[in-house]
Amino acid sequence: MPCTFVRLAGCPLRCVYCDTPQAIPLDSGESQSFETILEGLFSSKTPLVLVTGGEPLAQKNCISLLDELVKQYQHVQLETAGAHDISKVPNKVSIILDIKTPGSGEVERNRWQNMAILPKNTEIKFVLTNRDDYDWAKGIMVQYDLADKCTVLMSCTWGSLNPKDLAAWVVQDNLPVRMQLQLHKYIWGAETTGV
Ligand code: SF4
Repeated sequence: MPCTFVRLAGCPLRCVYCDTPQAIPLDSGESQSFETILEGLFSSKTPLVLVTGGEPLAQKNCISLLDELVKQYQHVQLETAGAHDISKVPNKVSIILDIKTPGSGEVERNRWQNMAILPKNTEIKFVLTNRDDYDWAKGIMVQYDLADKCTVLMSCTWGSLNPKDLAAWVVQDNLPVRMQLQLHKYIWGAETTGV
C-alpha cells in the first residue's frame, strides 16, 4: 500500500545491522511543528502513514503526534523496536513491534512488559541474522503465545541471511508467520535511501 514515512530522529539502540544509521543521532533531524508535518503529509495524500525512526517512542512528543495523525488518517502505523512502553499509543494506531534478536546485539533492550499489553492489531517483527536467531524467535513465539495474539513477521538481515534459507525453515516448520522482504532494496537497490 502506498505509504508516507514520518521518520523521527534519534535512537538509543545500536543494532549491528541498522540500515538507517543516518537517523540515529538526535540532531540528525530538524524540529518541526505538528502543523508542518501534517502539511507535508497532505501533499503526498497516501492512504497510509507510518511513523518510524530511529526509535519514534524515544521522542517525547511521539504520542501527541500519533494522536493528531489518527484524527486525520484512517490508517496510521507505528514501527518501534519495543524498547519503550507502548501503553500510551492510541488504540487506532497499528503497532509494528520489532523484537530484537540476539544477533542484533540489542536483545537486552527488549521491554518484555509490552508483551502483556499487545493490542490485537499488532504485528510482531523479527529481523533475523542467522539460524540461531530463527530458533530463538520460535521460542519467543511459544513463550508469549504470539501466533494467537497477533500477526508475526520474519525477515532477513540484508546480506547476512539468505531469504531462501528462511523460506525453507518456515515451510519445514509450518510456522504461522509471514515472511517479509525489504522490497525497496530489491526495487531501488540496497544503498538507495529516501524512496
Ligand atoms: S532500533 Fe532501528 S534505528 Fe535503532 S539502531 Fe536498531 S535498527 Fe537502527
